[in-house]
Amino acid sequence: MNYTLVMSINKFQHKFVANFKCINLTCGAEYSLKDIIYTCSKCNSLLRVNHNISELKKVSASDWKEVFKERAASFDFPNNSGIWNKREFVLPEIKTENIISAGEGKTHLFNSKRLAKELKLSSLYVKQCGVSHTGSFKDLGMTVLVSQVNQLISEGIKIKAVACASTGDTSAALASYAAIAGIPTIVFLPANKVSKAQLIQPVSNGAKVISVDTDFDGCMKIVQEVSKEAGIYLANSMNSLRIEGQKTISFEISEQLNWQVPDWIIIPGGNLGNVSALGSGYEMLYELGLISKLPRIILAQAENANPLYISYQKEFKDFKPIEAKKTLASAIQIGNPVSVNKAIDTLKKFNGIVEQASEIELSDASARADLHGLYNDPHTGVALATLFKQIEKNNIKEHDSVVIISTANGLKFTEFKTAFHEKKIEGINPKMVNEIISCKADISDVMGVIKSVT
Ligand SMILES: *Cc1c(COP(=O)(O)O)cnc(C)c1O
Ligand SMILES: [Zn+2]
Repeated sequence: MNYTLVMSINKFQHKFVANFKCINLTCGAEYSLKDIIYTCSKCNSLLRVNHNISELKKVSASDWKEVFKERAASFDFPNNSGIWNKREFVLPEIKTENIISAGEGKTHLFNSKRLAKELKLSSLYVKQCGVSHTGSFKDLGMTVLVSQVNQLISEGIKIKAVACASTGDTSAALASYAAIAGIPTIVFLPANKVSKAQLIQPVSNGAKVISVDTDFDGCMKIVQEVSKEAGIYLANSMNSLRIEGQKTISFEISEQLNWQVPDWIIIPGGNLGNVSALGSGYEMLYELGLISKLPRIILAQAENANPLYISYQKEFKDFKPIEAKKTLASAIQIGNPVSVNKAIDTLKKFNGIVEQASEIELSDASARADLHGLYNDPHTGVALATLFKQIEKNNIKEHDSVVIISTANGLKFTEFKTAFHEKKIEGINPKMVNEIISCKADISDVMGVIKSVT
C-alpha cells in the first residue's frame, strides 16, 4: 500500500478513539466502550457511539478514500470485510486478534437499468445486504458487537452468554457470530412468526432457541429483563455497537457510486435501528468531507405495523406504540420500536418521508421487481412498493436517482414466494403470478404448450 498514506494513518492511530454518548442533547453523558451499558444511566435515553471526529479530520478526505480503495481490493483478514476495512470509522480501538468476522459487507449494488427506464428514473440501484453470511444486513452490526464482546472477555470481563429477541434475522446473525467466537447464545423468538429458514439457522449454530408465545415486542421485554442478570449481554440494536457496523451500508453505497450521493434512499424499518444507522453513516461521511451532499431518506413500513407512519402523519408531534398486526414482512412486525427517537432525529435531518405498504402492495412490488432479475424478500417488497407509491405521488420525480436497501435474502422466504405464485396468500389476489405449467413427457404435448405461450 502507498507508504506515505500508511504513515499518515499510523501517526494518528492512537488518537482514533470512541466512547458511548447519550443521544439526549440536554444530558450528553459519556461512558467508556468497556462499560456494559445499553441506555443512559442518568436519563434512560439510547446511547450512540461517539467518534473523535477532529482527529479523523486530520487525514484528508482523499487520503481516506485512497486507503479504503486499497484495502477493499484485499483478500486478507480483516480487510476482506466491508466493515473492518473501515475500522477507524467503526470501532477504532479493536485489536485485530479480537475481530470476529465472516467476510461480511462488500455486497453488490445491483443496477436495475430496465426497471429504472420503465419508471423514468435516472438510476435505480438495489443494495443487496441480504447476500451475506447469514442472509441479512444484521451481519454488519453483529460482527462489531460480537468482536467488542470478544475483546471484553479477553480483558477478563465476565460475560456468560449473549442474548437477543428477534424477528428471525438478528438471532441468525448473533448465533453464527457468537459460534465463531465460541460464546454461548440465547435467542428469544416469537412462536410461529419467523420463517422456517430463520428458525433453523440459530438451531444449527447451537444457540439456545426459546420460542415464546408472544410477539416480538413481548420477546424484547423478556430479553431486557434477562440481560439485567449479571453476565448476560444484550445484543439487540438498542445496543449502539450494532449501529456502528450497520452504518457502513452508507460507506459502501458511496464507494460503489464513486462518492456520488443518490437523491433518494428507501429503507424498510421495524425496530428502527437501521434507518438511524444509514443516516449516521452519511452524516459521518459528510462531516469528514468524503461526500458533498446528503440524500433524502424514505422509511418504509408495513401498513400492518406502522406506528412511525402514523406519527409521521402528525409531523412526529407524538409517537404512540401500537400492537402490530400480522404481516408477510415478518421481520418488521414491530409495534413498539426501541430506536424510534433515533429514527425521528434521522428523518428530520434527512428531510425524510415515511410511507406504508399493504400486504398486496408489498407482494406485487416484490414480484414485479423479481421480473427484472431480483429475488426479493417481503421487506424489500415494502421498500419497492414505497418507491412505486412515491413516484405516483410525484415526490420522487422523473430523472431522480434512487437506492433501495434490500435487507434480506429472498431465499429465506421460500414460503412467502411459493404461496404468492400458488395464489395461496390469504385475502390477496396477486397480479404478477407466474404459474408452473405441467405437461406430459410427450413432444407433441410440449409443442402444444409452447405454441400457447409464444
Ligand atoms: C431487522 C430487519 C429489518 C428492520 O430493521 P430495523 O433496524 O429493525 O428497523 C428489515 N428487514 C429485515 C429483513 C430485517 O431482518
Ligand atoms: Zn442521558
